[in-house]
Amino acid sequence: MATPELLRPVAAVLEDLRSIKTTAAEECFRRNSLTLRSRDMGSDDKRLCLDGGLSTTLENLGADLSQGSLWSARLIRDNPDLIVRVHQSFLEAGADIIGSATYQCSLEKMMEEFGVDRPQAEEYIRLGVRLAKQAVSEYSRKSGREAFVAAALGSYGAILADGSEYRGNYGVSSEQLERIHTERVRCALLESPDLVAFETIPDNEEVRTILRLMEANFSDTPFWVSLQCQSESQLADGSNLDTISAYIKQLPPRSMVAIGVNCVQPELVRPVIERIRSGLGGNTQILTVCYPNSGEVWEEGWKHADGKTPSPEEWSNMVAQSGADIVGGCCRTATSHIRFLRELL
Ligand SMILES: [Zn+2]
Repeated sequence: MATPELLRPVAAVLEDLRSIKTTAAEECFRRNSLTLRSRDMGSDDKRLCLDGGLSTTLENLGADLSQGSLWSARLIRDNPDLIVRVHQSFLEAGADIIGSATYQCSLEKMMEEFGVDRPQAEEYIRLGVRLAKQAVSEYSRKSGREAFVAAALGSYGAILADGSEYRGNYGVSSEQLERIHTERVRCALLESPDLVAFETIPDNEEVRTILRLMEANFSDTPFWVSLQCQSESQLADGSNLDTISAYIKQLPPRSMVAIGVNCVQPELVRPVIERIRSGLGGNTQILTVCYPNSGEVWEEGWKHADGKTPSPEEWSNMVAQSGADIVGGCCRTATSHIRFLRELL
């Protein structure tokens, strides 16, 4: 009997799936939203490497990020060449994916701090994504190696620049969260990044808002959500991590690439990733992502906890052993961390 007309697209998708066995994660960013979730990774599949701490590396090169509350995003206006240079240094260290300097951007904040109108604020967010794309295209031309750009968008708390990204429970409506995330996503997408990375999301309601808005408005846009957790079982707002996994398992957004954790101590990533995996169950095609801090802790400045911070080599081992499909570094991690990590993947 001939294949019914309606079943043909499904057969075509299955054929696609068979062909991506060894580079499933890589293909995620190049294929349509159906295929994004169609992961069939075995033990010898390739894992993807993210970059490390953008602001840390900018500061190591002499940038002053202490003015105002835009952090590294201030340099989109003030020193775009330095941003490109840092992106390239992570690509040379082995990163497959780099995050744009837009983590702490919001239109309102940029209008306020730069004294510009809304179209100009939008232009700065777009420029942040373009700088990352420029770094990738220059690097790829030289090296022949493909790399990807994630439009990095921090949580609502990150925009507040008062540490709220480590607490959540903002006390604002989901409508407000949706508006702020949506306008930034719309801006970033005008520059066609490979995906959108929602980072350091501490709040259960915020996660659900992001999942809903991506499904409703951007269902062709690959994205991941990286959480901020206070323990292996709790988001920073105190809610249960399992409820997030259950929500995704029940209603997986079509273009969701991955779920994971960032900006936590490196010891936490393995238990969190294991918890998420078990919460998602065996059937899901969604990848996991983690990018922890260096192991230093913030107490009015970055300090070495208990007098000991893992070396880049020790750190890389912990991150690689997380078992996450996409791994990299967050605050205080440098190109040396990424170089060691790359070798372990
Ligand atoms: Zn961080």
